[in-house]
Amino acid sequence: MRQTISSDFKLGILGGGQLGKMLCQAASSWDITTCVLDPDSEASASGVSTHFVQGSFRDFDTVMKFAEGLDMITIEIEGVNIEAVEKLEQSGIPVLPQPSCLRIIRDKGLQKLFYLEHDLPTAPFKLFQNASEVRDAINQGQIRLPFVQKIRLSGYDGQGVLIARNEEDLKQLFDVPSLVEDFVEDALEIAVIVSRNANGETSCYPAVEMVFNPVANLVESLLSPARISHQIEKIASALAIKTAEDLGIIGLLAVEFFIDKQNHLLINEVAPRPHNSGHHTIESALTSQYEQHLRAIFGYHPGSTNLKMPAVMVNILGSEGFSGQVIYKGLNEVLMVEGVKLHIYGKKQTRPYRKMGHATILAKTPEEALEKADFVLKTLKVEA
Ligand code: ADP
Repeated sequence: MRQTISSDFKLGILGGGQLGKMLCQAASSWDITTCVLDPDSEASASGVSTHFVQGSFRDFDTVMKFAEGLDMITIEIEGVNIEAVEKLEQSGIPVLPQPSCLRIIRDKGLQKLFYLEHDLPTAPFKLFQNASEVRDAINQGQIRLPFVQKIRLSGYDGQGVLIARNEEDLKQLFDVPSLVEDFVEDALEIAVIVSRNANGETSCYPAVEMVFNPVANLVESLLSPARISHQIEKIASALAIKTAEDLGIIGLLAVEFFIDKQNHLLINEVAPRPHNSGHHTIESALTSQYEQHLRAIFGYHPGSTNLKMPAVMVNILGSEGFSGQVIYKGLNEVLMVEGVKLHIYGKKQTRPYRKMGHATILAKTPEEALEKADFVLKTLKVEA
């Protein structure tokens, strides 16, 4: 392969959202030329990539044309045109993570079957073609409330997930191919990001603890390190590494877990790329997840994942009731707090619960970081 750390090396990134933006920023530190493809001409990464191409990463011809002259392709979103990246890989352009991993991961049904085949713990599930099959299974007593229905393709950030608690909720059943799994009661949610390079070297970040906004069903804040026992931390890292090894993935893999009431770890889902649950690593770890992704796809040794300080990450979401040209309120009050680091993604239009940015709050103790994060959430408003 060509020398990667050189301004001659052209890294193509499919997707130009916030993850693409932060990946470009890390690549820039290593003097790598980044070329980003995204349908939105004002995508977050458009201002920081070396070259930006407006076009759909879901379209075969657009992806093929975009890839001309590039030395390697990576992704910041799973929903890319899979046939195109497979063809590019066959033609000799490294595509990392590999399309074979994307094929499994982008389909939540195939993901769950993969966990079963590889003895990876996950909530029991069944696959269905449509809503009437799900209803039949309920009538025949094969599945019982409460349960969770997830569409197999194109779900993200809680879209495409139905938590069905009662008969009334069944009116909302998705009428597309889906999986239905047991509802994990009172689960604690954690995530572990693991990296793996072509030499098989792996490295895990300490687990983070996720706290959800119940209305938007989005991660509202995330604490690093998670408040879990050493024993659970060890099991979670081992499972994350096994998942990455069984997939054979080269790059980052974010593994989301439920910890149930019996303290059992269950894999919820994985993402083959930098992840929301790793944003804090930019400031709080010796190596950011973005640099770690580059190290993995370029075949370098993983960087240290040791933490410098406890941190809380909060998503800066569009406030309810506001849509249109974005205005941020409370910036100065928030920036007066020691340890607050703001990342504004540069999306021009806000709408309720849209991810517009994030803040990482560093403090000496997790409690202090959580307290400050609470202030940031209450003070910073995203209006129009
Ligand atoms: P997405 O891919 O959209 O992030 P997830 O599969 O992670 O979707 O589901 C979103 C959220 O819904 C989870 O983080 C969790 O809070 C809740 N959830 C999903 N599956 C279950 C489950 N089996 N039991 C309990 N809660 C669940």
